[in-house]
Amino acid sequence: MLEKPLKCPNCGTYFFVDEVLNVQEHPKESMPVECPNCHHVYEKRITNGYFMTFEDREHGKYSEEAGE
Ligand SMILES: [Zn+2]
Repeated sequence: MLEKPLKCPNCGTYFFVDEVLNVQEHPKESMPVECPNCHHVYEKRITNGYFMTFEDREHGKYSEEAGE
């Protein structure tokens, strides 16, 4: 299950975060969750892998709800 999309405070893009867990043993460390559009670091989370982010195609960019 995907989480609810996050909204970049820098450019307003909605995006999802996918946690990619490494197969190899990997120490837990803080990895950045970056906006896929402007690469603003939204937050850092502890993980065994890393985070991939991708734009929310449903909401699209810039949160304008133009009735579509
Ligand atoms: Zn952004």
